[in-house]
Amino acid sequence: MIDYYDISGCYILRPWSYSIWEHIRNYLSKELKKLGIKDGYFPIFVSKSALEREKAHIADFAPEVAWVTHSGGSELAEHIAVRPTSETAMYPAYARWIQSHRDLPYRLNQWNNVVRWEFKQPQPFLRTREFLWQEGHTAFRTIEEADEEVLQILELYAYIYEELLAIPVIKGRKTEKEKFAGADYTTTVEAYVPASGRGIQGATSHHLGQNFSKMFEIVYDDPDTQEKKYVYQNSWGITTRTIGVMILVHGDDRGLVLPPRVADVQAIVVPCGITASSTPEERKALMDSCKQLVDDLVKGGIRAEGDYRDNYSPGWKFNHWELKGVPIRVELGPKDMSRGEVVAVRRVNGDKRTIKREAVATELSALLEQTHTEMFEKAIKERDARLSLVNKWEDFVAALEQKHILLAPFCGDIPCEDRIKGDSAKTDDDPTAEVKGPAMGAKSLCIPFKQPRDLTKEDRCIHPACNNKPKFITLFGRSY
Ligand code: AMP
Repeated sequence: MIDYYDISGCYILRPWSYSIWEHIRNYLSKELKKLGIKDGYFPIFVSKSALEREKAHIADFAPEVAWVTHSGGSELAEHIAVRPTSETAMYPAYARWIQSHRDLPYRLNQWNNVVRWEFKQPQPFLRTREFLWQEGHTAFRTIEEADEEVLQILELYAYIYEELLAIPVIKGRKTEKEKFAGADYTTTVEAYVPASGRGIQGATSHHLGQNFSKMFEIVYDDPDTQEKKYVYQNSWGITTRTIGVMILVHGDDRGLVLPPRVADVQAIVVPCGITASSTPEERKALMDSCKQLVDDLVKGGIRAEGDYRDNYSPGWKFNHWELKGVPIRVELGPKDMSRGEVVAVRRVNGDKRTIKREAVATELSALLEQTHTEMFEKAIKERDARLSLVNKWEDFVAALEQKHILLAPFCGDIPCEDRIKGDSAKTDDDPTAEVKGPAMGAKSLCIPFKQPRDLTKEDRCIHPACNNKPKFITLFGRSY
């Protein structure tokens, strides 16, 4: 999927991973166009003055911004930033383009790369210093329209995770501590990685309020009052992190397991049963039959390929495609040909079945859909087994040690969240701990829209030293 590169935190995306991004992109592009959102492209460079205009925004991003300081041997008079996100690159233009109420809503998306010189340990896909994403930037007359769009986009992100990648997500709002720098509020889809017991932020859709429009003077003439009014803005993005979450949630000890709807090869046909004593005619007949089979599958709407390499044995090829996670392997040999059958083996569970040759495209299509459903259900089951609702700090810490993510009453205050994180961290080898070694503390992942229960008068904020009333049940966990 990737190859390493000689700059830390940067990775080469090879076609096997890039094709997954293309499937995500094709889906989202189509949906955004349906909503009337057009694509554009802004430069990768941001001037210092534009970048620093929104104070809360730059305060958060400053440590991660990469700067162009030289051209050749000479230092630039004004250093130029490489975009970590494009609010500040785009909004000076929005201020020119939006003049009248008739220019609203203004909705633009771009597919691009951004650079965040992260200090946390880089990890392929999940946390890279350059990543691919789309960023939507929209402006509205009313807050209601903006609020509605925030959720509309979040639904599309949830669809990508659940319906394309077969990964369940929890939708919710970020706490004050975790919201996007410069936003009024941030909504998010949060996934869970069973192997590490950590949550991961899947994608975010932000309402920026009028924070940026005030700084960048994005105003329109209100026809009712004849006054200049500031627009309400949103921004939202989903990145190549999606691929990393997919690998972590579905992979097993034998390698990748690709969810069928994004697998670039859904079925790989492997010719089998050729021996040293096979005649050239027998070989040719088998290859022709395999090629015909691939054609039929492709005509039936399945992304199928044949592995005709003659320098590898079928067993080697089985391993190879298993490691790469292709959802279905189709074996075809002379005996199958004479019986008018093929053998299909599923990557997800090794399940092997014989299928009539004439029904193969319909049966495999159904099998791919079934595979999606089963992968999704398995992921839900694994997550729900480690999702606990707790009311007491002891239970919180104990469940965290068991690789759980936790729902707990929380007051929402930033200092309290800092304490929760600090006091749930393990700094050294606690002799009583089941899992040895240091471990980070719990962060809030989101305030789920669907609250697991109502708060009662008896509820207290989860941190034992907190005297505030809890405001909501919040999802916490160790995270990426
Ligand atoms: P943000 O603009 O900070 O809300 O980020 C948008 C989305 O990008 C987040 O929801 C993450 O899923 C993803 N993301 C953030 N940082 C990285 C990174 N370094 N590499 C890949 N994806 C990232």
